[in-house]
Amino acid sequence: MRYAIISDIHANLEALEAVLADARERRCTHFMCLGDLVGYNANPRECLEIVRALDCPTVKGNHDEQATLAKTSGEFNEMAERAMTWTRQQLTEDERSWLRELRLQRQVRDFTIVHATLDTPAQWGYVFRDLDAAASFTYQHTTLCFFGHTHVQCAFIRDEGTRRTSGERIHIEFGKKYFVNAGSVGQPRDGDWRAAYCIYHVDENLIEQRRVRYDIELARQKILDAGLPRLLADRLALGR
Ligand code: ZN
Repeated sequence: MRYAIISDIHANLEALEAVLADARERRCTHFMCLGDLVGYNANPRECLEIVRALDCPTVKGNHDEQATLAKTSGEFNEMAERAMTWTRQQLTEDERSWLRELRLQRQVRDFTIVHATLDTPAQWGYVFRDLDAAASFTYQHTTLCFFGHTHVQCAFIRDEGTRRTSGERIHIEFGKKYFVNAGSVGQPRDGDWRAAYCIYHVDENLIEQRRVRYDIELARQKILDAGLPRLLADRLALGR
């Protein structure tokens, strides 16, 4: 049994389609979505429709939350806010209410999914350092938890201490805990422009971090055509 874990799609249709094609090619039969379906890029409705059709466990991200508000709460920077204002105008009430009803964290089989952190999931903190991960581990009651939000693919392993790995393959060992960031499908920020996602090989106790090439030029052109900030198109190519 193989799960494809997708996070931070951010309305990038080209990246989402490429990731799903790659996952199906690799015989993934189950999917999970870690939130931030919308924001930044130009196809929020199309991405929402695809994820809803997958009918998979999905948790809420901060951009999903913002998209359901009538107006800005002032938490975003100017560029993110401009994209969010545009996104709010695109979505239907049905789409907004679907996003509104998403939960902040879920347990799926014997693992957990969350967008940002397990210690304070509603505050949207970022887990970059071992110390941040250690706080989440305190609230992690399953061996394995998948998260997103930073747009940086990596994993934290808890045994005697907490350590970070950016390895492509992680073997799940008994007695340890794993807090795994699936990276971002639609706006990676680790210097690699390719779409990121992760495969959980349940029967082999193996996690595989993957990168997939997609039609980035089309995604960038759509951002410009929609009148969204040019910087959003530029950062896709930089992976920042
Ligand atoms: Zn995000």
